[in-house]
Amino acid sequence: MLVRESAFWSNVLPLQEANMISRHIQSHHVDLKLETELKEIQSDDKGCVQSIVTNRGETISCQFVGLTVGVSPAIEFLKDSGIATKRGILVNEYLETNIPDVYALGDCVERTYDLPGRRNIEQVWYTGRMMGEVLAQTICGVKTKYEPGPWFNSAKFFDIEYQTYGNVRSTTENIENEFYWEHSGGTKCMHLVWNKQTQQFLGINSFGIRLRHECFDRWLRDNQSIQFVLDHLKEANFDPEFFNRYEDEIIKQFSETFPNLKANSKVTSTL
Ligand SMILES: Cc1cc2nc3c(=O)[nH]c(=O)nc-3n(C[C@H](O)[C@H](O)[C@H](O)COP(=O)(O)OP(=O)(O)OC[C@H]3O[C@@H](n4cnc5c(N)ncnc54)[C@H](O)[C@@H]3O)c2cc1C
Repeated sequence: MLVRESAFWSNVLPLQEANMISRHIQSHHVDLKLETELKEIQSDDKGCVQSIVTNRGETISCQFVGLTVGVSPAIEFLKDSGIATKRGILVNEYLETNIPDVYALGDCVERTYDLPGRRNIEQVWYTGRMMGEVLAQTICGVKTKYEPGPWFNSAKFFDIEYQTYGNVRSTTENIENEFYWEHSGGTKCMHLVWNKQTQQFLGINSFGIRLRHECFDRWLRDNQSIQFVLDHLKEANFDPEFFNRYEDEIIKQFSETFPNLKANSKVTSTL
């Protein structure tokens, strides 16, 4: 498995999580080659793949090659349709294109308006589902805006479930503070980010601990503080019965790292 970056998905994940997932991939006996790119695919006499060559000069024999270097909307077939496109099909907040009664939704869509903390093309399943629900309302006569709220996403890396709520960037910005906890077993971690000045909670990455979407969605919409989130962290746990719980350990480590952060249930001013 060739990865251009120094750790798996480190262009999206902070390095701690990217390193943890890299180790987990390797623990499943995948030969993960970091900072390595595909240079050439070599075929046999029948035109089938037989090996690849990396930019480090290594030749690796193989029976198939999977390339997963990003997604781009397949919208070429629309080029003479009169429907406005850029990278995706352009839509307004009602998912309307520039042509009356023609709508677009899902991976192929590019929003023409900005939403805080969100990109204009979002290729994840739940945004497609939400757009479908919104558009169904509109088509059935209740004109409804697409308002996805705070960003979230989930995925799974082998055995490790991943969820993210709000904005946890690969590198924190000046105004942000962060706290990272990792379990000694190396398959669970949590990364919290908040505004240094206001203590407003900005986002969380959780690996190996399942979180309740409705809690984090509400706390982000309500501009809750980091202290509030920690005070209520147990409520957000969505792991099955009899799973071990780690909130006490997480909160203890947080208090040791940030002894001066006082309980502050709601942030009134946001920057
Ligand atoms: C490997 C992989 C892993 C993913 N993992 C996650 C994940 O963990 N979490 C997550 O949130 N999202 C994930 N996604 C993204 C998620 O699958 C997509 O966001 C979602 O399926 C988009 O739905 P959609 O209906 O917009 O598009 P699609 O599901 O792509 O459906 C578009 C359909 O249109 C058809 N089509 C295309 N062109 C034409 C044409 N000219 N004429 C007729 N039909 C056409 C296609 O064949 C396809 O059936 C993953 C995607 C991939 C590929």
